[in-house]
Amino acid sequence: MQYETVIGLEVHVQLDTRSKMFCACPADYQDAEPNTRTCPVCLGLPGALPVINRRAVEYTMMTGLALHCDIPDFTKFDRKNYPYPDLMKGYQISQYDLPLALGGYLEINGDPGIGHDRRRIGVERVHLEEDVAKMQHFPDGDGGAGYSLVDVNRSGVPLMEVVSKPDLRSPEEARQYLTSLHSLVQFLGVSTANMQDGNFRCDANVSIRPMGSDTFGTRTEIKNMNSFRSVVQALEYEVERQRRVLKDGGQVVQETRGWVEEREVTVSQRSKEYAHDYRYFPEPDLPPLNIGRDWVAQLQTALPELAPQRKARFMSDYGLSEYDSDLLTGSRAMADYFEAALSLRSSSRDPDADQDSAKEVANWILGDLSRLLNQDHRDIADSPVAPAGLSDLLSLIADGTLSTSLAKTVLEEMYATGGNAADVVEEKGLAQISDTGAIEAAVAEAIATNPKAVADYLDGKENAARFLMGQVMRITKGQAQPDLALRLVQEGLEAQKP
Ligand code: ADP
Ligand code: MG
Ligand code: ZN
Repeated sequence: MQYETVIGLEVHVQLDTRSKMFCACPADYQDAEPNTRTCPVCLGLPGALPVINRRAVEYTMMTGLALHCDIPDFTKFDRKNYPYPDLMKGYQISQYDLPLALGGYLEINGDPGIGHDRRRIGVERVHLEEDVAKMQHFPDGDGGAGYSLVDVNRSGVPLMEVVSKPDLRSPEEARQYLTSLHSLVQFLGVSTANMQDGNFRCDANVSIRPMGSDTFGTRTEIKNMNSFRSVVQALEYEVERQRRVLKDGGQVVQETRGWVEEREVTVSQRSKEYAHDYRYFPEPDLPPLNIGRDWVAQLQTALPELAPQRKARFMSDYGLSEYDSDLLTGSRAMADYFEAALSLRSSSRDPDADQDSAKEVANWILGDLSRLLNQDHRDIADSPVAPAGLSDLLSLIADGTLSTSLAKTVLEEMYATGGNAADVVEEKGLAQISDTGAIEAAVAEAIATNPKAVADYLDGKENAARFLMGQVMRITKGQAQPDLALRLVQEGLEAQKP
């Protein structure tokens, strides 16, 4: 039997607001001491009243608009009731039947392995809720139950949930969807979307059905994946598990399963909970929202350029290759860095010269700078060499102060020390030597100490000149201007001819 895979994803995105969803506590909980960013509202103390964070509502609407959703006129918050130690109030304020955004789509690269090209994945809804506190379990070494501690800093941080339609048809398509959605929220600037920090998390629903069937099979929901890679692995494992269950004549049970990273398996956690288990009802402590059309229109107009558009513009305006444009729009920080450096380089009105600058700037960012950043796992946003620093370095190449290879050395020094290009050149004495007299001395030395190469040259082996030029570069510590060095070597050799 041939089966088709059906996947729908629920993605939780922490919004990058200054304060929490319903109180004035700072939303930035990561670096704070546990339980230092709390107040009666996010601690869930009786009598405390929530206030809606306007920025979080806007970020959710912006995401909805970028996903081609409708923003309804009327929306409200609801209480989702369940008991858990990390849920301070015993309920979570979420949105049930009237979310902030409904019925859109996200365009992704389909899975070529199943014959899919670019395709649209339906987005069911985007809603806004609050995050819960963080529990940390400390096992007891003697086999006892151990104990858990709760850090309430995360309680009440704005959390946006994006729910896809069950339109994905393979684990690879799930990865593509996550990649596109991740890029979208990042370029919108609504989230740092850092997966390691848990800013961008996903639950995956998956079922299989006989190829050609138009009804859905029973699904399971998988939780606890903390990288795109583990989402793909968990889905692949789960598809295979369901296939085996069906092959053995069994039935897939609708349940929640957890991905166990160390063992690379999913295990049953609990039976599926249904909406009625949560006893949803409208949040009585918050007013419903009437979303004015002018507000929506204003947000729509102000939407930032997203990665696919920016990539297309890099190709058409700067003449960059698709490959380079893809890499440069891999994150908003990268694209912003590139354009900031380029704008400092290309003040000319000559589009050809600007395209040359664009290629040069792109090559330095994607080549040497990325290599340095990758070496210490640093994001380009935290690069010790700022766009202006790179631009200054390229000016020193343009005016002949530096050769390309000297510039690489200068960049490394700038990266290590945070110094600016001109100072590094000055302090390390790295400027290119274009003074004929200084290079002639090195040429004379190279000729005097390499009689074999000289003899080869006189024998007609012209390559020997290159070898001697290499010696000149070595003697001048790479500082001789390369073209000039080669010309002087050739002149010196010609002078040896009888
Ligand atoms: P719940 O509220 O119980 O989580 P939803 O109907 O909101 O259920 O669906 C949650 C997610 O599950 C959505 O992303 C949806 O696309 C996906 N989904 C629903 N049915 C299936 C199915 N049969 N197979 C795979 N995914 C599914
Ligand atoms: Mg669910
Ligand atoms: Zn608070």
